[in-house]
Amino acid sequence: MYERHSSGARNPIGQVRDLIAVARRLPLDGGTAWDDPRIRQRLSQLLIECEAMRYTRYRALTRQIRGEAPGPEGSILKLTGTEIGVRIADAAGELLGMHALVHQGSELVPDAPRWCNRLVAARQYTISAGTSEIQRNIIGERVLGLPKG
Ligand SMILES: Cc1cc2nc3c(=O)[nH]c(=O)nc-3n(C[C@H](O)[C@H](O)[C@H](O)COP(=O)(O)OP(=O)(O)OC[C@H]3O[C@@H](n4cnc5c(N)ncnc54)[C@H](O)[C@@H]3O)c2cc1C
Repeated sequence: MYERHSSGARNPIGQVRDLIAVARRLPLDGGTAWDDPRIRQRLSQLLIECEAMRYTRYRALTRQIRGEAPGPEGSILKLTGTEIGVRIADAAGELLGMHALVHQGSELVPDAPRWCNRLVAARQYTISAGTSEIQRNIIGERVLGLPKG
């Protein structure tokens, strides 16, 4: 529970904000990528979900301040945090294209090496510290009180 709690502790909202900043610069169809409503919708949805995660994190923090052991909210944070990380990496790969494949910054994407690392690394976090399926089992049984499958 401690490992899940800590592995879900980081909020990737900064990554989404970075991606939005890049989208505002990247040229696309005579404008920028941000002018495309599908791209705006996709990035906005990620931003909304990261914001929502903040409140589960506050619940976890409250338990910690009270000196209580981490509860199943650690599994919720681990599951949502790592799965959203994969979706952010997917969105970055599609948006940045070749810029996300090279380990060298450019004028357009100065932090390309970080995106390249994120693309490669995002999936592993859905496996280490207990896979997403195991987190779903924990949430189903201990949060929702469902019978064992
Ligand atoms: C990058 C990385 C770092 C790691 N670091 C460490 C570390 O430092 N220390 C350490 O001890 N371990 C570490 N691990 C191992 C990690 O904890 C295990 O890989 C992980 O818990 C999954 O276990 P497994 O590989 O045995 O897969 P398995 O348990 O064999 O699972 C295989 C598949 O079956 C699914 N599955 C299994 N059981 C169920 C079930 N009951 N219901 C539904 N689906 C199920 C899983 O979700 C998965 O998709 C690391 C793994 C990775 C990828």
